[in-house]
Amino acid sequence: MDYKSHIIFGEIILQKCHIDKSYALWATAPDMDLKTGIHRYTYHNFKAILEIISEFKKQYPEAPIENITGIVIAILSHFYLDAFTAPIFCWNTHYASLDIPPSILKEYINFNIYLIPELPDEALHELYTKSTEIYQEDFPEILSVDEFISFVINELAKMCIFGIIYKFGVYRNLEKLIGRKITRIPVQSQMTMNFYNFLNEFFKKW
Ligand SMILES: [Zn+2]
Repeated sequence: MDYKSHIIFGEIILQKCHIDKSYALWATAPDMDLKTGIHRYTYHNFKAILEIISEFKKQYPEAPIENITGIVIAILSHFYLDAFTAPIFCWNTHYASLDIPPSILKEYINFNIYLIPELPDEALHELYTKSTEIYQEDFPEILSVDEFISFVINELAKMCIFGIIYKFGVYRNLEKLIGRKITRIPVQSQMTMNFYNFLNEFFKKW
């Protein structure tokens, strides 16, 4: 997705997890090498989280760094949202997670990077208003960090042919990073279906 969508989604999730929303800047971190064209292979991978953190710190020294959990939540929110606009190689370089049919892939990929600046103001208004509503309404007011982490891992695993095999290693790595065990129970949310349906309608219209 685009920069603004990542910030909005990151802020809403962080607030629901009772973490300072300034950490939403980290929700843009995986796109820091956007201009290279291969960025979805480097910084859009669970294994690259430490690398993302150290590189983003150098490029954006103003980003808050005290709360590692806030950083992880924001980066994971980026991975999840990106699966709606193009294949994301979050597990390894061979198998992508993707929540759109290949027949309409081209429009979605264009949308990600190129189309946004060309859309009329009315379309952008609709995009940000409706998507904000979905992010707000499809997650409970109070969300635990573990519920959101589990949700992202589970949903991305469902969107990838071998996701189910990889997800246990991802939990272990994240537990090492945040220094504690993660309760692996995802929050019940209709966000994936509702957001997918919304984007489909949006692309038919615009
Ligand atoms: Zn991205």
